[in-house]
Amino acid sequence: PPGASGAASQDAAASWARQRVGGRVGVHNVSKSFGSHKVLDNVSLSVPSGSVTVILGQSGSGKSTLLRSINHLERVDDGFIDIDGELVGYRKEGRTLYELKEKEVLRRRTEVGMVFQSFNLFPHLSVLDNIVEAPLAAGVPREQAEAEARELLARVGLAHKAQAWPRQLSGGQQQRVAIARALAIKPKVLLFDEPTSALDPELVNEVLDVIRQLARSGTTLIIVTHEIGFAREVADTIAFMDGGKVVELGTPEQVLVNPSHPRTREFLSKVL
Ligand code: ADP
Ligand code: MG
Repeated sequence: PPGASGAASQDAAASWARQRVGGRVGVHNVSKSFGSHKVLDNVSLSVPSGSVTVILGQSGSGKSTLLRSINHLERVDDGFIDIDGELVGYRKEGRTLYELKEKEVLRRRTEVGMVFQSFNLFPHLSVLDNIVEAPLAAGVPREQAEAEARELLARVGLAHKAQAWPRQLSGGQQQRVAIARALAIKPKVLLFDEPTSALDPELVNEVLDVIRQLARSGTTLIIVTHEIGFAREVADTIAFMDGGKVVELGTPEQVLVNPSHPRTREFLSKVL
């Protein structure tokens, strides 16, 4: 499994470090409603390049909507998001409106990788073809795309599964392929939305091990998870969301050991 000790994993760690340098993510006074339900309520968050931010919060607090907004899968109603000073999609402040062209949206989306709870591999494509799909679409020659895909598979401990079908893999293996696929576009920022929530308990750690390696790679990570121990270990910053707001923000020590907000304390008393 990934994270095993020895020379191979040291090579892997060095390889991770050669990823594209991490992007700085800025979320600026972002609000988003579905109908009359305000799901994001004036959210601001500053994520430094190469850092790891974990987002905690109860179901329905707006975590997925925030991640989806950072990848411009949702259009925000107010405020804006930038990566390294470049606008993500759409900006509205008061009466001022600025919107990127679709082509530019697509280009910038290649800077952000996303890993979902439900893996979302293409069932009709082999593991290798799942990984090369986006690079090929971006114009990378097949030979290069496949060589890089095999390298990524080795990093997630699945070099021997290149020709397998997704349905032949365990959930943990599928999720590791999904991470390799997200990395294939060499993202500046990787977003994880509850990456282990759909896994049997004994498969959680093989996926967390891969994310642990990534956390030292220089890629910026934003992770929604309920794995509190893991959060404490990898996070530079923990944001706690409640009712569409970031109500607490700080180091793991501050948020998990000395939370100041009653909702954070209540949440922690349930999950710890
Ligand atoms: P979390 O990830 O923290 O569980 P979400 O961001 O998924 O929260 O959802 C926040 C709230 O927004 C929930 O009440 C959810 O039902 C609602 N919501 C999310 N997406 C949509 C949508 N596309 N249409 C309507 N309501 C939505
Ligand atoms: Mg969610």
